Amino acid sequence: MKPVRAAVLLITMLLAGCVVTVNDPVLVGKDRVTMWQNKLVIAHRGASGYLPEHTLEAKAMAYAQGSHFIEQDLVMTQDDQVVVLHDHHLDTVTNVRDVFPDRARADGRYYVIDFTLEELRTLAVTERFNVSDGAKTAVFEQRFPLEKSSFRIATFAEEIELVQGLNQSTGRSVGIYPEIKSPAFHRGEGKDISAAVLKVLKTYGYDEQQDSVFLQCFDPTELQRIRGELLPAMNMTVPLVQLLGTGPEFRAALTPAGMQMVASYADGIGPSMQLIVSRGSVAGKLQITNLVELAHDQGLVVHPYTFRRDLLPAYADDYAQLLEIFLDDIGVDGVFTDFPDLTVEYIESNL
Ligand code: CA
Repeated sequence: MKPVRAAVLLITMLLAGCVVTVNDPVLVGKDRVTMWQNKLVIAHRGASGYLPEHTLEAKAMAYAQGSHFIEQDLVMTQDDQVVVLHDHHLDTVTNVRDVFPDRARADGRYYVIDFTLEELRTLAVTERFNVSDGAKTAVFEQRFPLEKSSFRIATFAEEIELVQGLNQSTGRSVGIYPEIKSPAFHRGEGKDISAAVLKVLKTYGYDEQQDSVFLQCFDPTELQRIRGELLPAMNMTVPLVQLLGTGPEFRAALTPAGMQMVASYADGIGPSMQLIVSRGSVAGKLQITNLVELAHDQGLVVHPYTFRRDLLPAYADDYAQLLEIFLDDIGVDGVFTDFPDLTVEYIESNL
């Protein structure tokens, strides 16, 4: 732990005057996470603007570019391993169709959960692509080319070992920002992904609120279960982040009462940037919602997604301006970005 973080924690504990527990009101929400530096650069799926998302190579690059936290999206295999992939499908980032042509489900998709880790190890990972009429086209055409070089699927444990190994060899203290994907889907397949993820976290020493980890999920019921049942049962107290999308199921959270509810089980929110600056905004005339204010009023940190140089909203002329709007003008606490280098550079020269 950095001395400054340790000092903040110690002072907070002294002010609290008692043993810190997860229910301690003094250490919930923003107070719990201001021990990290204020503006966080969270590498979204790694340095995914430059290398195929969620490969160890993209994570090493994100690390070297100065990211403060590195994201892992997590899904489970048939043999109960936790692996790092954005979707519980394999067919938009691997060559699974070529290697296991007979293993698609009736919907034509290839599910991670139908494969063992050993089988997944044989797949080549590439840039994200769409398929239409049998032809693959890259989602981001200017990024790393499709089907070049050699990339593989990694387990959550292997990725943690990469980050912790680099922390040792560089002397830095970069954190992890894992996301539990599709908990209801996993439950339907007979798997408790949250319990499996927490077990890996605990094994690698991420079990207390001051550890360099944020655990994120879109599913509020699952986050409440994690906070209320799983963490206490495993004697863990890691910070939780409620992800918020633009769908109608998230509307209730965007009110004072809804945000108060979120703050009862989470320490931060990870909203789509469209929930902060409305999509219809034009340059010089931004429609800024009250979401950040609502969250800050409840002591929640705000880490919006996803900041991309090559997919700018219409109201921003360039990437630096987009960062200026969110980090300087609106005052979010960090951003998920595909371009950690540009974001670190902006923060170091402007904030
Ligand atoms: Ca994610």
